[in-house]
Amino acid sequence: MRNIVLIGLPGSGKSTLGALAAKRFGLDFLDMDAEIEREAGMSISEIFSKYGEPHFRELETAAARAAARRLRCVIATGGGAVLRAENMRALRENGFVVFLDRPPAQIANGLDAGARPLLAGGTDRIHRLSRERRKRYLAFADARLPCAAGLKDASEGLCRLVRCEYPDAAFAVIGDPIGHSLSPAIHNAVFAALGADCRYSAIRVPKGRLDVFVERARFFDLSGFNVTIPHKQDIIPFLDGLDEEAALCGAVNTVRNEGGRFIGYNTDMEGLLRAVEGRGRAYGGAGVAILGAGGAAAGIAMKAACERARRITIFARRPAQAEELRRRALRAAAARGAPDPEIRTEAMEPRAMCDAVRDADILINATPLGMSGTKSEHASFAFLEYLPVRALVCDLIYEPARTKLLREAATRGFETLGGLDMLIAQALLADEIFLGRALDADALSKLAAGAVADERRSVRASRRASGNAGRRRRIEGEHG
Ligand code: NAP
Repeated sequence: MRNIVLIGLPGSGKSTLGALAAKRFGLDFLDMDAEIEREAGMSISEIFSKYGEPHFRELETAAARAAARRLRCVIATGGGAVLRAENMRALRENGFVVFLDRPPAQIANGLDAGARPLLAGGTDRIHRLSRERRKRYLAFADARLPCAAGLKDASEGLCRLVRCEYPDAAFAVIGDPIGHSLSPAIHNAVFAALGADCRYSAIRVPKGRLDVFVERARFFDLSGFNVTIPHKQDIIPFLDGLDEEAALCGAVNTVRNEGGRFIGYNTDMEGLLRAVEGRGRAYGGAGVAILGAGGAAAGIAMKAACERARRITIFARRPAQAEELRRRALRAAAARGAPDPEIRTEAMEPRAMCDAVRDADILINATPLGMSGTKSEHASFAFLEYLPVRALVCDLIYEPARTKLLREAATRGFETLGGLDMLIAQALLADEIFLGRALDADALSKLAAGAVADERRSVRASRRASGNAGRRRRIEGEHG
């Protein structure tokens, strides 16, 4: 929800269109030239004739810096604001820049040159300004809005662009790292399919910066957000309430703005269960083996305990962590009225794993072992030889789509389930919370999987392109 910054030649309609768009969307409007005149106590023409253009440019830079500090504002810049890169750097920091591209001949026809000092020499000057500045307008713009077809068309075009920045509802996923997130592709595809005027983006929030994010989210009245590593637990003190499932597992992955109150939910646990059920399996009555004892494993253990799994085995490299998880799962089961489930903890080492997976119906990897970029891998897959052939082997990891664990399991004839199914299932459950209505999970899961495939293709293509560009640069470098 950035400012909307309008750039373009004098007379291209920045003030008129900007004021109209601001009024329509209930945003503030700021005309930088009018601000400069107000501050200086004289007109722009008087500033030019009394102090010259360099002095005016100084005032313009100060005005650009002040404008950049505004929030929820449409800003009409002066035609020459692009002459100094520092002006545009400041305005772009929190602004979406739109170039109003009106042909100079059309501007010359309708322009009152007397009111514009730079056009005092006659309207021919506008053509020269266009030749001098066009490249800069294009270089600094996030979007170009052709304005040749008249004010009405231009106004509608601008409103469409502003609409994208200020939709009816805005959502985000926060985490760090977040660049790899598939969530925007999934949620935006779902919103588009539902015809919902919502926008979903990814925001990097480093550890320790949740306070700043939550303050801004409240100020902007963000409709809701998803939470991923490393904030699922840390977000809780910043919220106004928790639903039962989130309170039970002590982790939140979905926050909804309910009339100004931020309420936390957890759709991870139910998401994995839905994905497992999608394979015709259930936790109820099953032997569930969980590798890892972190946040995701906690959710799975508690859900499996509440769903009355026959036996839950938690494998962890730190026994204390597994024991703590066991106690929490027992408490959760008691709170839900599930009879005392059998929960064992085991060391995450090959021999113990081979012994303890013999009666598992569902095995779930909830560690980052095998994840792209981590270079870590399971020490051994020998435990697969001891797993009953009927077992479903799941991996929460979705990058890569098929981890080594899943490939090893598939070659031994096991049915497998990758992390993408869970990711999509928890995202659809989050959208049900965000939109406050039930969704057609079957149809939307397929649509979301298609959006993820498209996103992965486009990431691969851009990596190839930047790899080629890098290679080209190196070769050019080698040739001096
Ligand atoms: P977490 O809280 O950091 O827990 C990770 C667990 O794995 C901890 O028990 C950790 O033990 C253990 N572990 C880490 N490295 C290990 C190693 N080299 N050997 C043995 N154990 C190791 O993370 P999380 O939030 O539970 O996430 C776990 C995985 O699930 C991640 O890969 C995450 O991307 C994935 N995930 C996927 C989805 C989805 O929608 N598909 C949702 C949530 C999570 P220590 O504490 O001793 O390090």
